[in-house]
Amino acid sequence: TTDNDVIRDWLERATAVLEEHAAELDELDRAVGDGDHGTNMLRGFRAALDSVVADDSPARNIKHVGMALVSNVGGASGPLFGTFFLRAGQAWGSPVSTASLARAMRLGLEGVVARGKAEVGDATMVDTLAPTIESLEASVAADVDLQDAIGEAVAAAQEGAESTRPLVARRGRASYLGERSIGHLDPGAVSASLLVSTLSADHD
Ligand code: ADP
Ligand code: MG
Ligand code: MG
Repeated sequence: TTDNDVIRDWLERATAVLEEHAAELDELDRAVGDGDHGTNMLRGFRAALDSVVADDSPARNIKHVGMALVSNVGGASGPLFGTFFLRAGQAWGSPVSTASLARAMRLGLEGVVARGKAEVGDATMVDTLAPTIESLEASVAADVDLQDAIGEAVAAAQEGAESTRPLVARRGRASYLGERSIGHLDPGAVSASLLVSTLSADHD
């Protein structure tokens, strides 16, 4: 398998998981927003899968994914997830290691925060991405191999998504609800966690 096959395989898993969870993500978004988050993400990831070019470098293909998400997701989450991949592509390492994945995702998150201005605790995708990357960075420091590092990162992502439930949403449409967003999972935090779960080839 080439490094581009690794990217394509991941996108296939990601798209399949979004297909499986699109209705549930729309439902989460109906409670705090406009009910389209799953539909948006599925449309974006189908386009992202089609954007992979076999003859391009893996780093360029990660950027193609970012551009496909910016152009096809449609909602506020499109430019944010898109920026994540555009920036991650700048540090994409081949073959992927725990260190190169942590570095690429850190850059991606910096792009999301620069663009969306959300901090941890604002009930957004950042609440999933930040602890995921911290977990990967801790694994780099402890010299944990990639598969184990991904396993720990998946658990951190799930906890991060779950952490949004008691929060008041402070960014995006959900922030219009004020305190009424308390008690609801943030849809983008959940989709980010699903995407992290698919980093492992034997995700659930
Ligand atoms: P829209 O709100 O335009 O319909 P989506 O429903 O696709 O877009 O995406 C909503 C998700 O986008 C939220 O659940 C949240 O995780 C994320 N989001 C919105 N605004 C921001 C922001 N400023 N920073 C980070 N994430 C954000
Ligand atoms: Mg929405
Ligand atoms: Mg919308």
